Amino acid sequence: MTDQANPFESLQTQLDDASEYLDVDSDVLERLKHPERVLETNLSIVLDDGSIEVFRAFRSQFNGDRGPYKGGIRYHPGVTRDEVMALSGWMVYKCAVVDIPYGGGKGGIVVDPRDYSDSELERLTRAFAVELRPLIGENRDIPAPDVNTGQREMNWLKDTYETLERTTAPGVVTGKAIDSGGSAGRVAATGRSVMLAAREAFDWLDRDLADATVAIQGYGNVGSQAARLIDELGGDVVAVSDSSGAIYDPSGLDVAAATDHKRETGSLAGFAETESLTNEELLTLEVDLVIPAALENAITEAIAHDVAADVIVEGANGPITPDADDVLADSETHIVPDILANAGGVTVSYFEWVQNRQRFSWTEERVNDELERVITEAFEGLIDSYESTDAPTLRTAAYVVAIKRVVSAFEQGGGSWP
Ligand code: NAD
Repeated sequence: MTDQANPFESLQTQLDDASEYLDVDSDVLERLKHPERVLETNLSIVLDDGSIEVFRAFRSQFNGDRGPYKGGIRYHPGVTRDEVMALSGWMVYKCAVVDIPYGGGKGGIVVDPRDYSDSELERLTRAFAVELRPLIGENRDIPAPDVNTGQREMNWLKDTYETLERTTAPGVVTGKAIDSGGSAGRVAATGRSVMLAAREAFDWLDRDLADATVAIQGYGNVGSQAARLIDELGGDVVAVSDSSGAIYDPSGLDVAAATDHKRETGSLAGFAETESLTNEELLTLEVDLVIPAALENAITEAIAHDVAADVIVEGANGPITPDADDVLADSETHIVPDILANAGGVTVSYFEWVQNRQRFSWTEERVNDELERVITEAFEGLIDSYESTDAPTLRTAAYVVAIKRVVSAFEQGGGSWP
């Protein structure tokens, strides 16, 4: 991704933009622009060849006014302190906009997991769990998967925590495998909320997602599940991409076959009878809907001028830079913001945590029904905010809803103390 916009500055700009449509004291807002604390640590592990390597890792606890800190852990060479702080802040406002009782956190390790064996990654994850142990807990801070982490890493985190604490605490992390206390429906949850947000947005615009052409950047958990569910709904997914590039078929891709190809070969490249595109070309295709579902800063100001779609649903966190946002607002492109569109992951994480606390499992149907209720109600709340304030964009309207809820909890708790 070419633009070097600092995601933490992007978050602060988004909060400043929303504050113009809110009656919030500037000192209270200032508090909401910074994390409460950030752990920065160096993890050293023994590699398979007997040598020792050191990895930088972070955990940011941004705000706990509405409940325990909650947010994923990312393994990526591009992880920085500022990125982790930004992602933890987005979690606060995401949980607030869909009204689930969590604050926001995020973590990351600076590592390219492709360069390490499974046993090295297990040692690295367990070393991180040891550092996290005093900070996390079922009532305090609850990690989850993010880019390049999944059920396996969550199972290791939970196991290390439980071993050290000499207890069982399945709710200390979410996104676990089912037999380790995971929830039905969690793997597809973020892609499902992207589909639901897109469906609601098209409905609001008196259009039908089933008649739309769709391009999706990023074909990991979020992108591939969104593609599958939009395809099932009848939408026409014409282009998808991963870090190897994009594939395009104007008559519609065979999504299931593309997913099989990616699973078998590790990439989308070389998928039969499709045209190859760059990721930039995918984002500017003549389609109805673009879903950026890879990493931050995918749509820069330069790309924004060429975006042809009139709806963007953000699957990734922070995929549009603030400058690009301004360009897209001028061209009246409707953007369903990340904090609502990809909130399905944390919502079903919340359901997983509730099930863990109850020691009772829900059916997949119940999980999906509850998720649909949460996302459609949040979308209604977003449109109410957009139509009842002068907020210029859906993003600003979403932050207005979210900030109000966080400030209300802060004030009800007595405000600043001591
Ligand atoms: P993932 O690791 O499963 O997939 C990421 C995908 O992006 C891969 O297909 C990768 O090849 C692709 N990619 C990376 N760089 C790219 C580039 N330059 N161009 C095109 N594709 C590129 O990760 P994920 O879990 O699907 O997460 C994707 C985004 O969604 C992240 O921003 C993450 O924070 C956000 N998110 C994830 C969840 C979740 O539940 N997994 C929840 C909320 C938000």
